[in-house]
Parts: sequence; structure tokens; C-alpha cells
Amino acid sequence: MHNQDQALIFESSTPGRIGYSLPEMDVQELDLASLLPEGYLREEEAELPEVSELDIMRHYTALSKRNHGLDSGFYPLGSCTMKYNPKINENVARYNGFAHVHPLQDESSVQGALGLLYDLQEHLIEITGMDEVTLQSAAGAHGEWTGLMLIRAYHEANGDMKRTKVIVPDSAHGTNPASATIAGFDTITVKSTDQGLVDLEDLRRVVGEDTAALMLTNPNTLGLFEEEILEIAEIVHQAGGKVYYDGANLNAVLSKARPGDMGFDVVHLNLHKTFTGPHGGGGPGSGPVGVKADLIPFLPKPIISKRGEEFVLDYDRPQSIGRVKPFYGNFGINVRAYTYIRSMGPDGLKAVTEYAVLNANYMMRRLAEHYDLPFEKHCKHEFVLSGKRQKKLGVRTLDIAKRLLDFGYHPPTIYFPLNVEECIMIEPTETESKETLDSFVDIMIQIAKEAEENPEVVQEAPHTTVVGRLDETMAARKPILKFQKK
Ligand SMILES: *Cc1c(COP(=O)(O)O)cnc(C)c1O
Repeated sequence: MHNQDQALIFESSTPGRIGYSLPEMDVQELDLASLLPEGYLREEEAELPEVSELDIMRHYTALSKRNHGLDSGFYPLGSCTMKYNPKINENVARYNGFAHVHPLQDESSVQGALGLLYDLQEHLIEITGMDEVTLQSAAGAHGEWTGLMLIRAYHEANGDMKRTKVIVPDSAHGTNPASATIAGFDTITVKSTDQGLVDLEDLRRVVGEDTAALMLTNPNTLGLFEEEILEIAEIVHQAGGKVYYDGANLNAVLSKARPGDMGFDVVHLNLHKTFTGPHGGGGPGSGPVGVKADLIPFLPKPIISKRGEEFVLDYDRPQSIGRVKPFYGNFGINVRAYTYIRSMGPDGLKAVTEYAVLNANYMMRRLAEHYDLPFEKHCKHEFVLSGKRQKKLGVRTLDIAKRLLDFGYHPPTIYFPLNVEECIMIEPTETESKETLDSFVDIMIQIAKEAEENPEVVQEAPHTTVVGRLDETMAARKPILKFQKK
């Protein structure tokens, strides 16, 4: 399947073979020794592979084929919305006027770009039901932190200094408690009921004078809609806290329900999830933050606003928490999201939600005979199964995830929500065909049968990939990112 030889390009180096041609240098060579601190200059020549241009091209192309991306196969990663990224977004982001705009250009010469950002803000205000939006934050977690800093600034402006706690449900995405901690708050957990929803009794017990905010996502990370959301918001507001909406995944409510109408004060969105910015691999994201009127004064500056017919960057914001990102945020991702919103239109966005929810429920019901379903209710855009039945046979969800790789699927999320044993969280998205959903379900059913009849084949998976099971912690914590000659 894979051409191993191509991956060994570094080893197949031939002395003297060169893959580039450069003109003679016609400027004075820098005296690096005088510019760099002592000890920074290498003493020996770097050992670089010596190969032709064609060989290096094949090397990188072979490596790229080892990757799994949305454009190569189904990617049902729960709480991540790996939907198709329409290629028209790329065309528009590459327009000269967008791609070559310089962040230090004078406002008067970037009216088109500012106009697009302003219009995007207006669309996001409409979609979320908030009063103002900033596009500065570069990702979901960054948006969470920004939103919490706004809440902190709001309480401090009211002289309310004792609000040090952020309440987070036990089903929350891991970034929620992490962002709260980095924003200087202590987190406390509110329990879920056995129905997978916020336990109101427990919420009443944990809110108080020290509550800065409750962070929630609705539908929650189990894919279930918090039906008591108005009462939840009321409980927190009564105690003087703010309610934060983690809107990383809006696929279940787009054009159907709005955080602003559910009682939320702050929301962040992941334009690189719901609004089709490409993501994964640490590429640029965009995590706009929307707020209700009483939090507007604290928004990061500058704010993009409109004076008459002119778009301006407004720095005159004395209560602002300051900048959270240089220039205008990740402009290219904002252009892609804008293109997506404009090309879908309100009816298109409504259809997104309807198909995303239909697809998830279809898969959930087909799989429910073969895996445990911890919550009986209909789901929203994603659902959670439990691999408890398979665990009794000695097959863990990690094994199931690895086995899926043999069939060319990216595995679902298996490391959270933490309140479901051996969870498997699947988010199909609206962009997949019924045939793709069925093929995936058929393979999941086959794996459930293998767990009963031939567990080793699952326990020892993957069998077809270039590498088998990796030490994932080491790979993340101590990645080896450069060539080391053997
Ligand atoms: C993806 C996600 C985040 C974090 O977003 P990043 O852009 O990866 O920082 C936060 N909350 C939820 C629910 C998510 O799905």
C-alpha cells in the first residue's frame, strides 16, 4: 500500500546530487559569526539529504498520503465537526485583495476587508442572538479565555471582587476547565443527572456569591439538549453570575435556536468547525466571541465599527480588556466563514442543522443494537455510545478506534465525555451521504462481532497502517520534528 522506499529518502541520499539551482550570490555575505551569540554557530556542515527535485517531490507526496484528512475519508470525530470544507472558500480567500492585504495598511486602503469583517460580525450577531461580536480570538479555547476575561472585567468593574469560581458540568469539553484556570478562576463541577443533563439540584447547591460564571454547551457534550436551559440561566443570574455558551459546535442549533435567546451572556464560536474553516493539525482557527450589551465595553480593542459609510478600527474603548491577538485575528479563516455563510444563506444553514441531527440519530439507532446506548433520548448533532459490552470481552474502545483505521476511517472521539464509561462519541455532520454513514455503521457492527468471535484481531489493530500503536503521550509531549540520521 505504501512505498516504504520513498519514506526513506533521507537514507537514499547520494553525495553531490542537488535538487535546486540558484543564481550566483551577488550581495555581500553576512558575517554570521559577528551577528550570532557564541555557541549558536554550527561547527560542522549540516548533514542534509542530497536528492533530486523529483525524488523530494515523491517523498513529500508519499508522506502526505499517509495522512487522513476530510478530503480522503470519513472523519466522525465527536465534538469536533469535521465537515466538508467547500472549495469555493479557498477561491475567495485567495483573491488578491484578501490574500495580499497587509495588516499595517491604512484603514482607508482596506475598506473592503474591514467591510467583510464587519458584515461577518453582523451575521454572527444574528446567528447567536448576541449584541456584539469580536473576531479577534484565534481558536475555541482562546475564545473561552477571552470570554472569561470579559466576565472577570465585568465583575471587577462592578466592584464585585469575590467572584472567583467558574462552574463547569462533568460532561464538559476539557478546554472549559482549562480556560477557566488560565483566566485565574477556580473551577467547580456540577453533576449531570442519569439522563445526561445538568442536575438542577446540584447547580442550586454550588452557585453562590462566589460564582463568576457557569460554562455550558447546549446541546451538551453528550449530544443532548439541556431542556431546562432557561431555568439554569435564571439560577445563575439570580446568584449574580454570568452564563457562558461554548459554541464550538453550532451544528445542532444553527438557524433553529440562539444562545442569546436561551439566556446566555457570552458565547464563542469555532469558525473552523461549524463554519467550514479547515482545521486539524494545528492550522489557524477563528474563535469569535459574542456578548450581551452589558459586556460590550470590555471587548478586546479595536472593534470594527461603521461610521457613516466608512469602516473603522475603534480603539477608543477605555474599559477594554485590551488586545487578545495582533491585528484583526486570523483574517483568512474569517473570509472562509463569511463565504460559507453567504453561499448557504439562512435556509441553507437551517438545512445544515436538520441533516446533521438526522444523520446522528440515524447512526445512533442503527448502532444501538450492537453497542450500549447510555442515554435513550434522541440526540442532536452527535451521540455517545458506551463500549461496556465489548470491555467485558476484553476489547476496549481504544482497540475499536484502532481497528477502524484498518478500514480507512478516522476514529470517533473516545477520551471524553468523562462521565460515560468506555465512551465512543460520534459526530457524522450533515455533509456525509447515507451510503457513507451506512458503510461506517456496517464496519462498526463487524467490529462488534469480531469482539465476540475473534477479539485478538481488534486488540492487535491496526494491521494496515504504516505504523501500529504509538506512544501518543510521548508523541504529543516530546515530538521528534526533525530528521535524525540513523
Ligand atoms: C473544539 C472544541 C473546543 C476547543 O476549540 P479549539 O479551537 O480546538 O481551541 C471547545 N469546546 C468544544 C465543545 C469543542 O468541541
